[in-house]
Amino acid sequence: MRGPATSSSHYEAARAARAVHAPLDRARRCEVCVIGGGLLGVTAAFHLARGGIDTILIEAARLGAGASGRNGGQVIPGFSTSPRRLIEIAGAAQARAIWHWTRVATDRTRALVAEHAPHAFHGDGVIAAASDETEVAALRDDQAAIAGPLDDDAMEWLDEGTTRARIGSRRYVAALRDPRAFHLDPLALLEALAGAAHAAGARIAEATPALAIAPDGGSWRVTTPSAEITATHVVLAAQRMTGALWPARRGLALPIWTSMLATAPLPAALRARLLPGRDAVYDLATTLAYWRLTPEGRLLFGAGASGRILDTVRAEARLRPFLLRIYPDLEAIAIERVWSGVVDLTLDRLPRFAAPATGLWIGHGLGGHGVALAVGGGHAIADAIAGDRTAFDRIAALPQRAIPLAGLVGRFAVPAALAWLRLVAPRS
Ligand SMILES: Cc1cc2nc3c(=O)[nH]c(=O)nc-3n(C[C@H](O)[C@H](O)[C@H](O)COP(=O)(O)OP(=O)(O)OC[C@H]3O[C@@H](n4cnc5c(N)ncnc54)[C@H](O)[C@@H]3O)c2cc1C
Repeated sequence: MRGPATSSSHYEAARAARAVHAPLDRARRCEVCVIGGGLLGVTAAFHLARGGIDTILIEAARLGAGASGRNGGQVIPGFSTSPRRLIEIAGAAQARAIWHWTRVATDRTRALVAEHAPHAFHGDGVIAAASDETEVAALRDDQAAIAGPLDDDAMEWLDEGTTRARIGSRRYVAALRDPRAFHLDPLALLEALAGAAHAAGARIAEATPALAIAPDGGSWRVTTPSAEITATHVVLAAQRMTGALWPARRGLALPIWTSMLATAPLPAALRARLLPGRDAVYDLATTLAYWRLTPEGRLLFGAGASGRILDTVRAEARLRPFLLRIYPDLEAIAIERVWSGVVDLTLDRLPRFAAPATGLWIGHGLGGHGVALAVGGGHAIADAIAGDRTAFDRIAALPQRAIPLAGLVGRFAVPAALAWLRLVAPRS
């Protein structure tokens, strides 16, 4: 049996109504054209508009249609790679500066939620959980690197008893908890920031894909199906479509699909036993599971990775065994929604920010840690356009290695795309 290719996320389904922004209707001029209505593009537009910069944001589908409106909602510092690997790649001093930039991005996301979308806040604390000695050793190493060379003392080590009590599962034997990390409804934050950007003067057009971008006598021309936009700056924040618009970025990231489910609200007794502290959790298994409770008591659970999209029936069939391995008690709980989304994964699991031509600003490859990175990255791009390139240049200085034979992997949509990535670039 096959289901729909994917469905709207739990966040979107839970909305009573959403503001709709009309497509671009005629040729426009502006200072900055932002392409992509994910958290990266929307945060850039928000800061630009609030800084008095004339901005148009165009989104191919709906705001939040990409990963930003479909993710696990965990707001965490760092990257999809291990802290140790970050140090090896960037060197201790640079790694420390970049790690702290991600910490600040996490704190800024929290501040934006408090100011613009308090209803988006779901809970404090994110736990990374280990289920065997190898994973415990990896977590110990993360802890040592974060507290040592990266100079961040926020993390708490949880022993076996505390881990099991906080997660409500006997599967895990130790954990690292970040009390400053938190979890949210990402679509609610995105919509609130888009609303604030709009109120500050940004023009937003949905159902308006950029078809091409080209330099045009000192400005940029952005072609859409209905009209052209002329802008001094272009912010390209289109995640996996980046290479289609700026071919030199092809092969830097692979689109990896991951799926999530939302259960029916759990009975109160079960909620209290599963996650009594309301932390969000992810584990270190190669299939990477991530989960948390929403305020109304649904478990949102994601896991797995695939080179191509799984339809909803297959995605649920894959997710259920992972879920029941962690929480056997959920056997009888109804699963109300299943959806999938794309994580844009690079070879070293570090993001790819670049300004390859005057007035062109690109951010993609944010990986599975992309919520805080998108909010921080959008801010860094807005600052750079306003004249302060400090943060942007720091993240753009990270290596920009391409994925060997990425074109081939992508073309055949090989389900083993992830295995391939693991082969060429293991986590640590
Ligand atoms: C299921 C899932 C779970 C995840 N869980 C977490 C998590 O718990 N914590 C975490 O930190 N990260 C998580 N991530 C990763 C995180 O969601 C992403 O890294 C982040 O949202 C990327 O933001 P973005 O703005 O770069 O991309 P997107 O949100 O993908 O936005 C790109 C936008 O560009 C638009 N677009 C594309 N082409 C064009 C075009 N030609 N013209 C105009 N618009 C265009 C798309 O429609 C899309 O809206 C998860 C991702 C997924 C898929």
